[in-house]
Amino acid sequence: MSENSTVLIVDDDPISRFTVKALLEQEKIYNLEFAENGEQGLKKALEIIPDVMLLDVMMPGIDGFEVCRRLRTHHHLAELPIVMVTTLDDRKSRLRGIEAGADDFMSKPFDQEELCARIRTITRLNRYRRLVETKEQLFNLANYDSLTKLPNRSLLTERLRQSIERATRSSQSVAVLALELDNFKTLNESLGHEIGDKILCEITQRLNNTISNGATVSHFSADEFVIIFDTENAVKDINEIAPALLANIQKQMTIDDYEMVVTACIGISVFPNDAEDSGDLLKHAELALSRAKSSDKNSYQFFTSEMNEVALERLKLENKLRKVLKQDELRVYYQPQIELSNGKLIGMEALVRWQNPEWGLVSPAKFVPIAEETGLIIDIGEWVLRTACKQNKAWQRAGHSPTRVSVNLSSRQFQIPNLLEVIKDALDESELEPKYLELELTESVLLEDSIDKKNSIFSTLSELQTMGVKIAIDDFGTGYSSLSYLKRFPVNTLKIDRSFVKDVCTNNDDAAITSAIIAMAHSLRLSIVAEGVEDADQLAFLKKRECEVIQGYYFSRPLSTGDMTKKFEKIGRQAIFQ
Ligand code: C2E
Ligand code: CA
Ligand code: CA
Repeated sequence: MSENSTVLIVDDDPISRFTVKALLEQEKIYNLEFAENGEQGLKKALEIIPDVMLLDVMMPGIDGFEVCRRLRTHHHLAELPIVMVTTLDDRKSRLRGIEAGADDFMSKPFDQEELCARIRTITRLNRYRRLVETKEQLFNLANYDSLTKLPNRSLLTERLRQSIERATRSSQSVAVLALELDNFKTLNESLGHEIGDKILCEITQRLNNTISNGATVSHFSADEFVIIFDTENAVKDINEIAPALLANIQKQMTIDDYEMVVTACIGISVFPNDAEDSGDLLKHAELALSRAKSSDKNSYQFFTSEMNEVALERLKLENKLRKVLKQDELRVYYQPQIELSNGKLIGMEALVRWQNPEWGLVSPAKFVPIAEETGLIIDIGEWVLRTACKQNKAWQRAGHSPTRVSVNLSSRQFQIPNLLEVIKDALDESELEPKYLELELTESVLLEDSIDKKNSIFSTLSELQTMGVKIAIDDFGTGYSSLSYLKRFPVNTLKIDRSFVKDVCTNNDDAAITSAIIAMAHSLRLSIVAEGVEDADQLAFLKKRECEVIQGYYFSRPLSTGDMTKKFEKIGRQAIFQ
C-alpha cells in the first residue's frame, strides 16, 4: 500500500474541482482522483477504493445524499470516510447528510486551512484504524489456528495458566483433555488434504457443540485438540463430557461425496492432582492419551502416576541406549538355520543383544522398538552388520564350513541415502563374499507409498542381488501380505513367522496358512525358512510340507560368539546337526 492517501473528489462544478486540486496539491501527500457526477463517483470509488471521498451534495442525476446511501450499503465501501460538501451553514442538508451516513462536512467556498485539516484528520484516523486492524490480525495469527479458528497451542497454554491461577484461589480443579483423532493421517493421505481440512473443521464444530460455555477448545497440532475447563467436581464432569465428545465425533460424517466415521481417543489430567503447572498437566494428559490409543480406539483414559513411572523408565532406557555403542555394550548372538533334507547348518541369523551392566542381557524386543523410534537403530544396525560380516569371515578363516549370515535391517535403515555404500563397505572391510550375507527385511519396507522411495528401494535391492547378497522377507504373513510385490521385488527367501509355526499342529488356520506359504514359495522358486520351531511335531509337519530350512529352539537357541564357535567345532567340517 502506498504511503499517500487517495482522495476521490466528486463534484459536478469544474471550478470547485480545480480549487480543491490547487489547494490539496500543495500538501504533496495525496493522490487526487476526480469524478464529475454521482454515477461516475460510485463507479470510480469501486475501482480505486479511495481512502476518503469529498462529495458534493448538489449534483444533477444522483445527488450526494444518494451516493452516500448507496456507498453505505456496499460491502467494500460501507466504511469509506465521506466528507460532504454543502453550501454555507445549510443545517437541513447537514442533517440529511448525517442520516445518509456522512462522516464530516465542509462548506463552499473552500477555505484552504480547513480543507487540509479535515482531510488530514480523516487520513490520520484511517491510518490508526489500519494499525489497529493489523495488530488484531497479528494477534489472531499468533493465537488462533487459521483453519479451525480455534485458539492454538500458545493461547491455550496462556488460558491454562490463568485457569490454574483461578483454581488455586478458589480451591477448584482444572480438567485438561488431550484429544487425538485415531485415523486422521490415513484419511488425510488417502482422501487428500482438502478433505482432511474439512474433516478438521467438522470435528471443530462437533467439539464446540458438545462443550459448555467457559471451556476452551484449542487446536493443538495437526490432529490433536486440547480442551480445558474449570470444575468443582472433575471426575464427575469428565466422565460425562469425555464419552459425549467421543460419541459426537464418532457419528457418521459426509464430506463432499465421502461418507466416513472418524474416531478419537482422549487422555486426561487434572489440576492440582496430576500436576501443578501447565507444562506438566499437558504432558501428563498426552501420556494418558498415548495409553488410551494403545489400549483401544475410541477410548479415554485418566492420567495415573504409574504412567509417569513408565515414561520415566523409558526415558532412562532411551538415554542409556544412546551410549550403548560408545560403551561397547552390544553383542551379536547367532541362531543356526538347518537344512531339513540333510541336517546341515546352512546359515545363521544375527540377533542383537544389549549387555547392560545393571540389567544384564536385554532382549532386542525391549530396546529395538525404541531404537527405531529414536533413529538409533541406524547406527546400531550398521554396527550389527559390520560385526556379523567380520565374525562370519573369522569363522571361515578358522576353517569352519562356510555358512551364510542373515542380518536384520530395520525399515528406518532404508531411509538413509547411503545404505548401499554401508553394506558394500561392511563386505569390503570384512572381505566376506557377498553370497555369505543375507539381509532380512519386513514386508513394510516393500510397501512404501511414495513411488520415488519405492524405486530407490527397488534399485538398492537389485544391485545387492546382482552382487550376490541374498534378500529375505522376515515375519512373512504377519504384515500386509500384498503378494504382488513378491514378483516385482528381488527376493530370495521367505521366513514364515513364528506365530504361525507355534500352533501349526493344533490350529487349522495356522496349518493352512503355513502350508499355503510353503507352496507359494515353491511355485515362485523362493527358498523358505520356518522360524520358531520348538518341537518334533512342528518339525514333522514342516518336513511333510517340504519346508527347506528350520530355525528354532528345537535345534538351537541364539548363541553367543563363543558358544557358536564351540558349536562349529562340535559339528565338524560336514556341519551336520544331530
Ligand atoms: P526376528 O527377526 O523375528 O527374530 C527371531 C526371534 O525369534 C528372535 O528373538 C529369536 O530368538 C526368536 N526365536 C527363534 N527361535 C525361537 C523359538 O523356537 N521359540 C521362540 N519362542 N523364539 C524363537 P530375539 O532375538 O529376541 O529378537 C526379537 C526381534 O528383535 C527380532 O525378531 C528382530 O525383529 C529384532 N532384532 C533382533 N536383532 C536385530 C537387529 O540386529 N536389527 C534389527 N533391526 N532388529 C533386530
Ligand atoms: Ca529376523
Ligand atoms: Ca522373524
